[in-house]
Amino acid sequence: MYDKKPAGAAGKRPSVRRRFSRRKGCRFCADSTMKIDYKELRNLRYFVSERGKIVPRRISGNCAEHQRKVCEAIKRARNIALLPFMAGHSVD
Ligand SMILES: [Zn+2]
Repeated sequence: MYDKKPAGAAGKRPSVRRRFSRRKGCRFCADSTMKIDYKELRNLRYFVSERGKIVPRRISGNCAEHQRKVCEAIKRARNIALLPFMAGHSVD
């Protein structure tokens, strides 16, 4: 006879790991050649998640000033349909 152990739903504790590497400081502050513009999708893409959400400052590592500008640029880009508001309509 053997008894089955419950497969660790309660006891198991997966170690939480941060998925985003922490970047110290703001990349716009570090690199002055990078500009925040609603037309610069290459730069903005980095600050938009796959689902079309704006990546929070905690993760992007931007400083407050640049995060605000990025935010504004993304919203502007959305308005003229350069970026999606949400990536919900395509097949998941
Ligand atoms: Zn900055």
